[in-house]
Amino acid sequence: MCMPARNHTQPEPAVLSECPSLGSVAMCTCGTMHVSVGGVTLRLAPEAFGEMPRMCQQAADRMMLSAEMTPGTARLAN
Ligand SMILES: [Zn+2]
Repeated sequence: MCMPARNHTQPEPAVLSECPSLGSVAMCTCGTMHVSVGGVTLRLAPEAFGEMPRMCQQAADRMMLSAEMTPGTARLAN
């Protein structure tokens, strides 16, 4: 139902990945990616979803860098 102009041949998006402590990623039959985290589902175009790993990796890298300098988050840096 995310892109009404295209056909949805299956009632539910196919789950591609699950992380019990985080959420899941599913692909709708229209190609839209459903990213579910904490009860919220983001619907992203495949191109936008393709940018997610890079964006998250960069954020994670910077989080680790700042964690080294921030006492409260030092446990993240190991
Ligand atoms: Zn869809």
